[in-house]
Amino acid sequence: MDLRYAPEDEAFRAQVRTWLEKEAPAHGAPPPGDDWPARRAYDTAWQRVLHDAGFAGLHWPAGFGGRGLPATQQLVYLEEYARASAPYIGVNFVGLMHAGPTLIAEGSDAQRAFHLPRILRGESVWCQGFSEPHAGSDLASLRARAERSGDEYVVTGQKIWSTRAQVADYCELLVRTDASAPKHQGITWLILDMHQPGVTVRPMRTIDGESHFCEVFLDGARVPVENRVGAENDGWRIANVTLRFERGTAFAQHIIGMRSAVLRLAALARSRRSARGTAWDDLRGRIGRISASVEALWSLTQMCVTEAERTGIPSPLGSAVKLRYSELSQEITGLTLRVIGRPILGAGDFAGLRTAEAVRDYLWSFQTTIAAGTSQIQRNLIAQRILGMPKSR
Ligand SMILES: Cc1cc2nc3c(=O)[nH]c(=O)nc-3n(C[C@H](O)[C@H](O)[C@H](O)COP(=O)(O)OP(=O)(O)OC[C@H]3O[C@@H](n4cnc5c(N)ncnc54)[C@H](O)[C@@H]3O)c2cc1C
Repeated sequence: MDLRYAPEDEAFRAQVRTWLEKEAPAHGAPPPGDDWPARRAYDTAWQRVLHDAGFAGLHWPAGFGGRGLPATQQLVYLEEYARASAPYIGVNFVGLMHAGPTLIAEGSDAQRAFHLPRILRGESVWCQGFSEPHAGSDLASLRARAERSGDEYVVTGQKIWSTRAQVADYCELLVRTDASAPKHQGITWLILDMHQPGVTVRPMRTIDGESHFCEVFLDGARVPVENRVGAENDGWRIANVTLRFERGTAFAQHIIGMRSAVLRLAALARSRRSARGTAWDDLRGRIGRISASVEALWSLTQMCVTEAERTGIPSPLGSAVKLRYSELSQEITGLTLRVIGRPILGAGDFAGLRTAEAVRDYLWSFQTTIAAGTSQIQRNLIAQRILGMPKSR
């Protein structure tokens, strides 16, 4: 494997860098954390700017609003994006990172033609309706059911942990369509329109004081049959395609973002006094190891992304990427708090240190070993699907 970029990739890098240096700061600061309508407006407006400049859906098919560029240029773009600290498009993480890619891999032509350009132009926002109160790690136990009524499915049940569902237009929804079949064989993947009477969204408050995710109650919600992705009862296979994107490629931007976080940590350590001189004198070995781990993980991510370009869907290697990403992210944010020391106890910033942000990042990092499948589940998948070990009884 040759991890070096070709001259045309480097030329693309120069173009991206110049554009981002000018445009990213011009978009201004993001709105306050818990103002979701404002966050939606901010994120989708930036998505539109990217789209109009030709930087949306770089590796998505050109026929559906993408650029059809090679994966290497997608990677270069992510490196430059992180370097410029360009706005993070959180509200449409689902649409851009796994619903859109699932439609590219498994959707009908009509679904692709309708949804993909809207996602790329920032016109529609998606959420994920997979987990339920009794179906998280054991997702195939889900109970929300859809019954066929003419040309529609009528959906009843409850979803939970649906990230940013309070501002979503569509939901990638898993439902049970055959209660008598073995649990993995009676599931269907539907595109749910969130703006209808049978859908109630209730935000939940999290440890950082924000409402990142929601409960979604479905009471007779309707989904036209043409909004089914794949065949009826083939939803488990399609859900696994979605999860492969979610674990294998969706975190790429977060992973490359850790490079800047380590540099900030190193600068912070140099500025904080300790008994031996500065925190850097105490911790440089550990920070060096973290930095090497981030670079190794980025190489693994590059492998996953380029492999997905060849095969259409990321491989189970994504579980290893996701697992390591979540561990490193917790290590970096935890060490940052340790270096700051006592000032983290205050509510606001202190002595020029962005303590409030550091505390928020630390608290937020707790979710990384749970979201998109817990670390225990990733370890099971690595054992079974990468190492070929038998399932435990
Ligand atoms: C930030 C965040 C965002 C999320 N966003 C969404 C979203 O948008 N849409 C959505 O549908 N879901 C979302 N989720 C839900 C997420 O997918 C689930 O939380 C996750 O799959 C775990 O399920 P659970 O919470 O029910 O835990 P459980 O499945 O109840 O697990 C509890 C504990 O038991 C362990 N465990 C369970 N089974 C096994 C096993 N077989 N072997 C070993 N250990 C096991 C788990 O690792 C965990 O430690 C999100 C979660 C988070 C944290």
